[in-house]
Amino acid sequence: MTTTPVTGDDILRGPGFDPAMLRFQFPILAQKIHGDKRLAYLDNAATTQKPQPVICALCEYYEFCNSNVHRALHELAERATEQYDESRRKVARFIGAGQEESVVFTRGTTESINLVAYAWGRKFIEEGDVILLTEMEHHSNIIPWQILAREKGAKLVYVPVLDDGSLDIEAFHRSLSSKVKLFAVTHMSNVLGTINPVKELADAARAAGARVLVDGAQSAPHMPIDVQDLGVDFFAFSGHKMCAPTGIGALYARRELLEDMDPFMGGGEMINRVSLDDATWAEVPHKFEAGTPNISGAVGLGVAVDFLANLGMDKILEHDRRLTAYTIEKLSAIEGIKIFGKAPERGGAISFEVAGIHPHDLSQLVDREGVAIRAGHMCAQPLMKRLGVGAVSRASVYLYNVEEDVDQLVYAIGKAKDFFKV
Ligand code: PLP
Repeated sequence: MTTTPVTGDDILRGPGFDPAMLRFQFPILAQKIHGDKRLAYLDNAATTQKPQPVICALCEYYEFCNSNVHRALHELAERATEQYDESRRKVARFIGAGQEESVVFTRGTTESINLVAYAWGRKFIEEGDVILLTEMEHHSNIIPWQILAREKGAKLVYVPVLDDGSLDIEAFHRSLSSKVKLFAVTHMSNVLGTINPVKELADAARAAGARVLVDGAQSAPHMPIDVQDLGVDFFAFSGHKMCAPTGIGALYARRELLEDMDPFMGGGEMINRVSLDDATWAEVPHKFEAGTPNISGAVGLGVAVDFLANLGMDKILEHDRRLTAYTIEKLSAIEGIKIFGKAPERGGAISFEVAGIHPHDLSQLVDREGVAIRAGHMCAQPLMKRLGVGAVSRASVYLYNVEEDVDQLVYAIGKAKDFFKV
């Protein structure tokens, strides 16, 4: 019997970073779709597939360790607690947090941002304050601020997106003033693929007196992250977009901010002492983790970040860049296609439309050829409005995608065009 989750070290020490070999680590990719079609999974910006070490870690956790954490004193509770705490240390290392107390486990990016809006925003945002966002935000980085602004009488200001899909940096600088209390920005757009110069933006926003929150949902899975070097106050991300299970993610926040913030939810785990009339809070980060946490999810996230770190985030980024360039080249050659987002710094979320075919129809037709892409407004309706469309199709690549996936997509789009005679 072993209680140590598989980390993937041994398996990965062999061939190194080779996407074609890596695919074997993701059992789901081996299946056939719609009879005999090879699965080309290109919906990674929505969620990624899980490698064998993560799947095994979940099984092992439930087979040998399952218990509640930080409470009981028996052996299983000690194992579960040790694994949960170890995962926090791994995540802290993975994003360069400096200290594990700066990492709060959440359900994912959405919950992390809501946590900041609730626990920091309700305390520190006042009437007349400005919350600066951008036109390329996911709804997760818009709605919590809309709710807060409405409640507090604060104002939302949006930095515009230029025609090539990059952020209007000059407009950003013009928007900064002493009224701006928070700048919340996506690191990488889930629609345009644009990678924003977060370090430079954070420097300027913080110099103007604002706090900076970065939505790292699309960046943490794809590039090396060092939150201290980026100089941000808050960084939110989701495990399921980086090989970990669903329902787990994290919020990084500078420790002194977490200490100043009010709790997000009340209940067990987040208290120190409770009387009938009053309570004191647990130390950070536990103050923000009320109730029984997603323990197995956190264990899975720990194994996932090991898996990614062992591969090398720089190598993953390099692979993304290569495959993104290949995808854009191949898609651009299709007659009637329009690609949204041509920013010089971009990642592998590639949105497009094919003249004469609604994105939903296209997505269903390519699915028949075994190709999984996303269609719709991508939870970014304000950006859709800016682009002048109601919906787009999106192909998004990850570390296990190969050129054959892209070729299969191009072939499937060709078949869809034949079907619609466009
Ligand atoms: N922000 C961005 C840029 C995203 O792409 C997503 C998910 O697609 C989210 C936030 C929300 O992530 P989650 O649903 O995991 O909370």
